[in-house]
Order: sequence, then C-alpha cells, then structure tokens
Amino acid sequence: MNLAALIVAAGGGTRAGGSTPKQYRLLAGKPVLRWSVEALRQAGVERIAAAIGARQTEIARQAAGEGVAFVEGGPTRTASVRAGLAALGPADIILIHDAARPGLAPGLVRSLVQTLEEGFGGAAPALRLLDSLRRVDAGNRMIGEVEREDLVRVQTPQAFRGEVIRAAYAALPADAAVSDDLAVARAAGAAIKLIAGDVRLMKLTYEEDFAVLERLMGDVRVTCVGSGFDAHRFGPGEQVKLCGVRIAHDKGLLGHSDADAGWHALVDAILGALGEGDIGAHFPPSDPQWKDANSETFLRYAAALAAKAGASIIHVDITLICERPKIAPHREAMRVRTAEVLGLPLTHVSVKATTTEQMGFTGRGEGLAAQATATLSRPA
Ligand code: MG
Repeated sequence: MNLAALIVAAGGGTRAGGSTPKQYRLLAGKPVLRWSVEALRQAGVERIAAAIGARQTEIARQAAGEGVAFVEGGPTRTASVRAGLAALGPADIILIHDAARPGLAPGLVRSLVQTLEEGFGGAAPALRLLDSLRRVDAGNRMIGEVEREDLVRVQTPQAFRGEVIRAAYAALPADAAVSDDLAVARAAGAAIKLIAGDVRLMKLTYEEDFAVLERLMGDVRVTCVGSGFDAHRFGPGEQVKLCGVRIAHDKGLLGHSDADAGWHALVDAILGALGEGDIGAHFPPSDPQWKDANSETFLRYAAALAAKAGASIIHVDITLICERPKIAPHREAMRVRTAEVLGLPLTHVSVKATTTEQMGFTGRGEGLAAQATATLSRPA
C-alpha cells in the first residue's frame, strides 16, 4: 500500500487577520502547514503535495520544510484539488487534507487507512453534534427544528482509494461546485465510512482559534522580547559588513570578529529573549578562535540555542545608526540574508536605519551603532 497526501493550502486566510495566510503562520512554535506534513510522514505517507496560492512557493517551502511538492491551486477548492491530484499522480491511497486543520494525529491517519483496507472507497473523521439545531430565516427568527440524530460534522483528512478519487474527479463536470472530496466520491458511487473525529482537528478560521487550538494541543507558550545593542569604531578599510552584507565604504569597522554590529545586536536580542547572557559570554573576545569570525556563526548559534530551548523566533527588528554609509540601498539585501540565516519569512524580518543628526559618536562618524529586538515564543 503506498500512501500519498494532498494538502490544500491555497486559501488567502484573511479572516484570521494579519498579512500572512494562516496556513503559514506559527502555531505552538511551528508553521501551521508543517504540523500536518509531520503527522502525515509519521503515519507512513511517502509522497506529499500541497496546492498553494499564486506566488506562495517560497513562504510555503519555509512553512512545510523539505520534501513537499508544490502546485499552484485554482480559484476554487475543487480546482485546487484537481491540480493537486494531477501533480500527485497515482497511489494506492490518497488523503486530501486542509492545511487549516493542523491538529492531525498520526493515529487518525492509520485508522483511516485501516477503514479503506476493510473495503470502503472513502473514509473521513467526523464529530457528533452536541448543540441542538434550529432553522432560521434571514432575520434570525426561528422557523423550525432540525433533527440532529443522523447529522455529523465532517473533518479532514478525507482518505480514498487512489483510483476511486481520481476517477470521481475525472467524472465531475468542470463547472460543478462541491463542498468537499467526500461529496465528489459519493457522487461517483463510492462507499464511504465516517470514523470518530478529533476535536483537535478544528479548522483555524478566526484569530482566536490559534490560542484555542494551542491549548487543546497542550502547548502553553509565552512570548518573550529581547533587546540588543552594539557599537563598533570606524578605522582604516574599504568596506563594512552589516547584517551579513558587504558594503563598499571609505572606512572599515574595527572589532575582534568581522564587526557586524547589526547581527551582534541581533544575537544579543535573541540571547536576551532566552535569558542566556550576552554575546561576549558565549564568544569571548579574548578567545583567539573568534578573531575575524564571520558573525553568521554567532547568529546561527543563537538560533540553535533557541531551537534547543523549544523556542521559536517569531520576528526580529534591527536598527542601524550611522551617518554613512547609506544603508537604504542595502536594506533589502540585509533583510533577505537575515531571513535566510534564521529561516524566517521575509515579512518577519525588519531592517531599519537612522542617523543621529550629526550628534554623538555616530553623528561625528567615529563609529556605527546598532540595536535590535527579537520576539520569541517559548514554552511556558
Ligand atoms: Mg560587536
């Protein structure tokens, strides 16, 4: 039995607020999409494809981790699933899952597979309704009751024998609007069984759903903000290195390492949010091994310390303070480099610059300063 999964992640996710679609945001310290990818892998799913929105490949790759194939979805969920199934190709069993339901347990996937092995063409998790149901008119006036005994709430992943779901979509009229993949399979005559769902498979829709699901997943976290400051003196030289980017200049920056004040301030900010002392304690200037060291080493070390503590870096903000060199032309390259090293989406990395109106040591051009903040999510 080879297992393949399609994760539908093409939604804009605007109801949950923020500029990043909800499937790429962090939940309990991990991108929403990655929770599903890891659960599917643990359950033995060998091939995973994700249907994503236009121009989302980079953010999706960062959120999903390695080994997921991406395909651009369509204007409707049905179109996205069609595109995803085509990209996925044949498999004995195909699971179709909504990225907005990250609370997937590997055991549930195994139960779905077992149900298909019993001879069903499709299987999905579902929950009984606990609230009673009423029918209302447009003015919210109650106009009737609904018997709930034979009603359930269906979740995903929805699992199918590969040839069943592929044939069902092939037979579906191009303009058909369907609510989910079970409906497509059933229209094609497949026998479908619903198994016990999981409250943790709730669909993330609104902002407050993130906190609710984190609690259901037993993950209580706190947000910690660290700050950092650094300054280096100008001296003879032809270039400076700031936030990992070399800039031609008529001076250099003096320091034991490469004097990248931007990243030094950022390292201190990350260490600060972790309560792990300062950069000098971890990389003593008295230690010759850090002479001329590349500050990328320091930044990667701080990120690894965070990961070891179960923390995730949510956002960083760096301010460079100098009259010259002009930072603006290099600002975007600095953001990109910082985002690359920390594995953050570009939207979660900020690099800014200011002068001190020719006052003080930065104003007189004696040196350059940097300050940074880092926001981390840590286990409580
Ligand atoms: Mg320094």
